[in-house]
Amino acid sequence: MQFEQGNNLPRVKATNQSSILRMVYHCGPITRADIAKRLDLTLPTITTNINMMISAGLVQELDSPESIDHRHGRRSRLLDIVPDARRFIGVEMSGSECAVCLTNYRGQVLGVRSSPAPSRDYEENLDATCTLVRELLDSCRLTLDSVDGLGFCVPGLVDRQAGVLKVRPSYNWYDKPILRDVRRRLELRCPITVENNACARAYGASLFQRELMNNVSTFAYLFIHAGIACPLILNQSSVFGSIVGAGEVGHMVMEPNGPQCTCGNHGCLEAISSDRAIIARCMDALARGGAPTLRSLCPVGEEPTMARVLQAQQDGDSDVYPIVERAVYTLGLAIANIVNFTCPHAMLIEGELFRSEGNRRQLLDVVRRNICKVTGTDTNFVFVEPSEFSGARGAAAVAIFHDLQSASE
Ligand SMILES: [Zn+2]
Repeated sequence: MQFEQGNNLPRVKATNQSSILRMVYHCGPITRADIAKRLDLTLPTITTNINMMISAGLVQELDSPESIDHRHGRRSRLLDIVPDARRFIGVEMSGSECAVCLTNYRGQVLGVRSSPAPSRDYEENLDATCTLVRELLDSCRLTLDSVDGLGFCVPGLVDRQAGVLKVRPSYNWYDKPILRDVRRRLELRCPITVENNACARAYGASLFQRELMNNVSTFAYLFIHAGIACPLILNQSSVFGSIVGAGEVGHMVMEPNGPQCTCGNHGCLEAISSDRAIIARCMDALARGGAPTLRSLCPVGEEPTMARVLQAQQDGDSDVYPIVERAVYTLGLAIANIVNFTCPHAMLIEGELFRSEGNRRQLLDVVRRNICKVTGTDTNFVFVEPSEFSGARGAAAVAIFHDLQSASE
């Protein structure tokens, strides 16, 4: 509930404006009366604020369909956000690739740019990423001043308050002040947010997949790439997105005598089921003279890609098949444990492994066999198509989320 009276009137007004804008964003199309009811505010307060937002070009009255306001017995126009009222840049700097996109308020992508990472050096990665941002804006005939927020995401442990990447062990990146460095390089005045790249994807799902997320108050987003993370979103319906940590489930120990992980332990989930682990196992097999199908698919001297690994699996490569099967089986056990522990309404799963229908079936089979039946948890599992720009778009969602939280004029 927001308060309409008090000693600190300007702050109350700002809080009301921000709440009303978020309500229109998350629940629009919606009537003024509905907003008043949901926020426990008076209709005149809503009308005053909405009129200001319409004048500012943030909110629009829809022509149709009209909704009957039963309480007052009159027709009431539906309101929604103006999708093109604001523009946001989303950036993912994964270490292996730099990807940037430009979106509007609703996450519609207006332009994209990407390039392979120039090296494993932090500064060089950042330079390449900022160059992409400039190129993207040039191609869209926009300037940096016309951007309302920039969201940046990166794998690893992020201090989102300070905008600092705390730890990225596999790249030897520690305490990198991303927010400061990006602001300096781009001379940006708009807000900049820094987030873990799996959390950014979860924000993206929250904000942009509204039909899927309808009535889902808690969900997990399992992201399998070089590492594995599974952030949780809680109480979406009330506060819309309180993220609990980065969900570093990649280091839960699945096989105590298993392969060594980058963290130093043995048998971590990501030492068995991440893309990096799968590719490393396949390269071991190639080095031993095995994996004949995969060998035939890979140009000499090139590392296998996940696409080629999946092709070799499908073609029945006798060395690749058990490597992938073990990875999927272990992920299935991990997911059953996560679900038993957190009982999310939905779990979104994004990973190259699950481009394969067979791997999807195997995963769900393992999950269902190992999930605890007595809790009655009925989690909806959704496979998300991996995309080069899903992280960048998620980072834009974080910037939008921040914009909605701080909007007060
Ligand atoms: Zn580990």
